[in-house]
Amino acid sequence: MISKTFCPLPWVHQATYSDGSILLCCVAENESDKNLNRGSLKEAWNSEHWKNTRKQMLADQAPTACQRCWVEEKNGYRSHRVTELAIWENRLGPEGMRMLLDHTQEDGTLTLEPRALDLRLGNTCNLQCAMCRPQDSSKWTGLAKKIHAVAEDPLLRGDMGYKTRINQADFEWQDRPEFWTDLEEKLPNLTEIIIGGGEPMLLHAHTEFLERAVRSGHCGHIQLRYHTNLTVLPKHFLDLWVRFERVEILASIDAFGEKNHYVRYPAKWDDIERHLRWLEEMPPERFRVGILSSIHLLTLFDFDQLLDWVAAQKFKLVTHGFKDMTLPGIVMHPNYLNVQNYSAELKERTAEKLRSCMERHPRARNKLPGVLNFMFERDGSERLPAAREYVMRLDSIRKTSFPAVFPELASLLLNP
Ligand code: SF4
Repeated sequence: MISKTFCPLPWVHQATYSDGSILLCCVAENESDKNLNRGSLKEAWNSEHWKNTRKQMLADQAPTACQRCWVEEKNGYRSHRVTELAIWENRLGPEGMRMLLDHTQEDGTLTLEPRALDLRLGNTCNLQCAMCRPQDSSKWTGLAKKIHAVAEDPLLRGDMGYKTRINQADFEWQDRPEFWTDLEEKLPNLTEIIIGGGEPMLLHAHTEFLERAVRSGHCGHIQLRYHTNLTVLPKHFLDLWVRFERVEILASIDAFGEKNHYVRYPAKWDDIERHLRWLEEMPPERFRVGILSSIHLLTLFDFDQLLDWVAAQKFKLVTHGFKDMTLPGIVMHPNYLNVQNYSAELKERTAEKLRSCMERHPRARNKLPGVLNFMFERDGSERLPAAREYVMRLDSIRKTSFPAVFPELASLLLNP
């Protein structure tokens, strides 16, 4: 082991965020002063933030930007760091890993180029997911203002206040020619590009990126990985995708049927199901399709229903090649949606349902025990009033009904 806190990402990867921020990875805190509205990926790569992070990791220290991984590991949950470490050790082998260190200077400067990018090319999205925000979905801008205008709970009001403070002009950096020049210079060294959003299938810069990568002739050594809500899947992307080495689609699906429609509002289950069936027909040697599920206060209690549905589909491609039936991602923000906020009774009932689910589906045993540990680790029930007011405000503005869609959860959650 290189060090107890070593993560390969600061050596191989850069992540962009929809507002132009440049991050160590998609789960890292934003502690860099570099931004694509003013600067470039190249400037960030050996900036003080990246150099210090590398130095700290080599010295067994835990950089504060990587908080989330340390919290997850402390709770016995497989962090993004551990997952990425396994991926890159496998990809590069011992010699490749050693090469990363050999090219790291004493002050943290790295004399190698990044091999992977995570591109969030804007915030245009067609959904208004419960745990989301305007920075990730343009559909949230109006909703945040409406809730902020009426919110009474201080936690909810504070969160909505933060969500109203965005400047849409910050999200248009992908039109800067400097960004594309920088990106095209990086293409020869890249082996992986992760594409998120917003909803990538709706982002014009995503189409432009695919076309530029194909024209450059470098697409054959690049693997694409998508984070998509799978409600939109234009078939013409297939002509471009087949030119890349491999394509991985990670579909964000948090619940089954109308519960998913409520949480990922207003996603239509029929569209998602149709697109999963379409992806089932893709050549398995080129395509991998998984399901990513956001675990929060609205989704964990009925998570067993989604797993039962996945098992019943008997997919041949979708979810294959993954240890898990769906890959759960714990939502920590907004904090009133954290599953640690469940009451003691709700935690017991949830654990009971999920243990029985793990009996039915051995593949669910990989990550769900860590999720349950996380849920029990802290009593966050003081945040329940904010969560209750939040669903009430959502229902009032969207004309939805949380109790009608989640009857059992609502009876346990809404009654103090
Ligand atoms: S330690 Fe975690 S947060 Fe930090 S770069 Fe690695 S995966 Fe990202």
